[in-house]
Amino acid sequence: MKKRAGGSKAKAKGRKAPPVARGHKIARPAGAGLRAIKGARHHEMAGVKIDSVAAANGQVKRVVYPPGFRWSTHMKPLIGTELCMHGHVGFLTSGKVQGQYADGCTFEFAAPQVMVVEPGHDAWVVGREPAVLIQFDAAAETAQRFGLPAEHRHAS
Ligand SMILES: [Zn+2]
Repeated sequence: MKKRAGGSKAKAKGRKAPPVARGHKIARPAGAGLRAIKGARHHEMAGVKIDSVAAANGQVKRVVYPPGFRWSTHMKPLIGTELCMHGHVGFLTSGKVQGQYADGCTFEFAAPQVMVVEPGHDAWVVGREPAVLIQFDAAAETAQRFGLPAEHRHAS
């Protein structure tokens, strides 16, 4: 019999839920977040570590930008465009990112924060922590898929 722990459902409603993982140490999110991802394709480019998994009609990626990374310094020579022409939609789980569009508009994201960056930007990691972005991606169609402009601009 579970008389002590039991009680009616109506009674249970008003009761406070017990804290999660009581008496256990909670793993550090940063460490847990960088373990190998099941089924992911891993590659590195200009010091950026990318794990990519096909998901629905797109991909989910974990992108780890190292401290000191700057797109225009490290990635531009490999890509060949003046600015990064990808749209980025995702969730920054650690680190801090700043960036600038061609017209001088700037952006800044600090984890934990949802990130939306339009195509046509430079961006760099701020501080000593890697920036970890969980990105929802449709390759070249990302901007179109998420309703972003083909390049950062203002309606006027
Ligand atoms: Zn602007």
